[in-house]
Amino acid sequence: MTAIHRNLRGVEVMQSEYICQSCGMPIDKPEDLGTNSDLTKSEDYCIFCFHNGIFSEPEISKAEMVSRITQAMIEKTDLPKEQAHILVDQTVSSLKRWQ
Ligand SMILES: [Zn+2]
Repeated sequence: MTAIHRNLRGVEVMQSEYICQSCGMPIDKPEDLGTNSDLTKSEDYCIFCFHNGIFSEPEISKAEMVSRITQAMIEKTDLPKEQAHILVDQTVSSLKRWQ
């Protein structure tokens, strides 16, 4: 969540850094990468979203994901809710899972 905070404040993410394509969480440790059904590491999703080739919450909607991350951001930053929501919505909208 820290890097989302950074990203949303306008700082570019390093090219080498993985961002979960579901929740936008930066993945900076190999053990935080999700796993495919053949137990190889997923380079797209974090372990919290994607495990053994299955989304942990296959039914979650983009709107629910946005509101969850927004809530987490508000708790960690002093951004007003409206502003946090807009920034999170922009970030999540760019992720592969929600295209
Ligand atoms: Zn994730």
